[in-house]
Amino acid sequence: MTSKQQGVLRPSICRFRLGEFEVTSILDGVAQRDNLHPLFGENETAEAVQALAQANRLPPDKFEHPFVPALVDTGSELILFDTGNGQARRGAGVGNLRPLLGEAGYSPEDVDIVVITHGHPDHIGGLLEDGEAAFPSARHVFGEREFKAWVENQNIPDARNENREMFMNVAAPFGNQATFVNPDDEVLPGIRAVNAYGHSPGLLAYMIESEGKNLLLWSDVTNHYGVSLQKPEWHAFHDDDKDMAVATRKRILDMATTDGLWVHGYHMPFPSVGFVEKSHDGYRWIPASYQLNL
Ligand SMILES: [Zn+2]
Repeated sequence: MTSKQQGVLRPSICRFRLGEFEVTSILDGVAQRDNLHPLFGENETAEAVQALAQANRLPPDKFEHPFVPALVDTGSELILFDTGNGQARRGAGVGNLRPLLGEAGYSPEDVDIVVITHGHPDHIGGLLEDGEAAFPSARHVFGEREFKAWVENQNIPDARNENREMFMNVAAPFGNQATFVNPDDEVLPGIRAVNAYGHSPGLLAYMIESEGKNLLLWSDVTNHYGVSLQKPEWHAFHDDDKDMAVATRKRILDMATTDGLWVHGYHMPFPSVGFVEKSHDGYRWIPASYQLNL
């Protein structure tokens, strides 16, 4: 018999209810990378990071980094949170948000609002398709502080020079007609911005509430489900302001735990929905199972 092996197959679309809202996670793709350290635990020894990986039954020398935009259908509006890596990186196994939209039951024209949590490439990469607005009917929403930081090149580390060029090409052109929000502002009733500054100058998380159910979409407050939660004080290479990112991580993890919030995390394992519990001197990620379907 010839082999029927076809390689890895991953779930890439998942929809659940949140009160009257529907939330769909779409896997834009997965990057496989070498060595958690020094990307995670930059201010720790490689041995300490490897030991933590092993304690979580994770290999010490390789890891996966998923990218998971979310769609929220309020019943009257369809809101996309972040646009994935986009066309430029589609050949590299990421940038699949757009091809998967149809399978999830939507067309790009269905999206009423695009919310960009921050200006890093894996979040803004899908704003354009063939040089045109990828979601042509949508109003675009940016954090005011974040947008200003990129356009004025304030508090952007030199390591992000290429990222800045990309921001100016794909995101800045939306500035004329965009809506700008600040912490505590509402995008729509039930969708409110939350200060999450640190990973980038003006990163915004979003609290999504419907019929007493609360989901905190925390974007890149954490970037690894084990390391960032169990050791929130460890520095991460991708955090632009390390100290502010640590303080924000601790504040948001504490809030998610204390208030028993559902969480959607852009780099948490697909479908990137779960909740958080205190554990040892840090926190633990608990993936959702069926709770939100009942
Ligand atoms: Zn990211």
